[in-house]
Amino acid sequence: MKIAWFCIPASGHTNPTLAVVRRLTEAGHAVRYYSFEMYREKIESTSAAFIPVDEYCAEMHLSPADGKRIATDTAFATKILADTTLALDEAMLTELRSFQPDVIVADSMALWGKLFAIKLGVPFVSSTTTFAFNKESAQVMQQGLGDLFRLLLSLPKINRELKRLQKAGYQVKSILDVVQNDNSTNTIVYTSRHFQPSAESFSDRYVFVGPSVTEKAPLPRTTDKPRVYISMGTVNNDMPALYRACIAALADKYELILSVGEQVDPACLGELPPQVTADQRVDQMAVLADCDAFLTHCGMNSVSEALYCGVPLVLFPQTAEQKGVANRTAELGAGLLLPEGTESAIRAAVEAVIADEQYRKAAATIRDSFRSCGGPEEAAEFILSVATN
Ligand code: UDP
Repeated sequence: MKIAWFCIPASGHTNPTLAVVRRLTEAGHAVRYYSFEMYREKIESTSAAFIPVDEYCAEMHLSPADGKRIATDTAFATKILADTTLALDEAMLTELRSFQPDVIVADSMALWGKLFAIKLGVPFVSSTTTFAFNKESAQVMQQGLGDLFRLLLSLPKINRELKRLQKAGYQVKSILDVVQNDNSTNTIVYTSRHFQPSAESFSDRYVFVGPSVTEKAPLPRTTDKPRVYISMGTVNNDMPALYRACIAALADKYELILSVGEQVDPACLGELPPQVTADQRVDQMAVLADCDAFLTHCGMNSVSEALYCGVPLVLFPQTAEQKGVANRTAELGAGLLLPEGTESAIRAAVEAVIADEQYRKAAATIRDSFRSCGGPEEAAEFILSVATN
């Protein structure tokens, strides 16, 4: 079989796909992965053919401010989609017509992949590294009305961008056609049905294969105190005041491991007590393999990794997507929302999550649901079944 795979320039969207691609190449299938130079090495290590698309992707040339705008301004996001698709149009269609893929797989946000599949009439699979999205799950994630309202206000601008796509031969009637996968779209979701909000509203065209996680041997303990891990992820993590508040609130009672990110110099946190470490990056899976609580920004990867290890969470989301993940974790009882980053709130939340066994039990239930998923093997089989039908 021949498989064309499209992704956006983001580690969180690329990493979970690699094990699936490796399964496909190991089974003798030809995968061409259209991605970005910064992921060349990772992708080539799966034995897929790596094809760079940096020069075409408008998203790559965005200023940090515009990068944030993409998440909140639908008209702007549609313009980026139209720009990227039209920039890729000629080169990619020539390439795809010569490769003749049996199936096109695209990240749920690499919408140009879906548009090429529509234009060429090739079977399509969506690869979704966040929760699967529809009206019902949006409600649970509390992203309903505000987003819809913004969408309505921006419709005239969106329609202009859609006309550009239609003129170039893309049969798309509305942006929702492209953004939302309906129940007939073949979709791989890297979580379990148990963790997915409103899982019952998704058809059997959705396969929940579980998170792509590589287990590590636990980081050895150095004290008898309960271990608390703190990380705000790798992107919006420039939060020295929060790290200081965590140390002030917790250092007397807990072993603390802080991952402060590349924008913060750990020295700015002052002299640390012996049971506290602060580094720009840690081996997160080794820390989580033996950990009593994790204060997290609720990135999908961090939360999935923690729950895969059965670690209960203190939830401190910063973006709409992270709030969705936090709400679902809280709803299933595996974590407690932190209302504010103050010393007293941090201490109260961490103490509660460690003292009340219910949090660890709920985390263990999610862990079991992850571990009973079909993993990369099931994802690869699903792609092949779509290609042959
Ligand atoms: N990570 C890590 N070490 C660190 C901090 C983060 O290995 O010190 C990894 C973490 O295991 C996860 C990813 O970086 O796989 C963060 O992804 P997530 O979706 O949680 O958040 P983002 O950084 O995209 O906001």
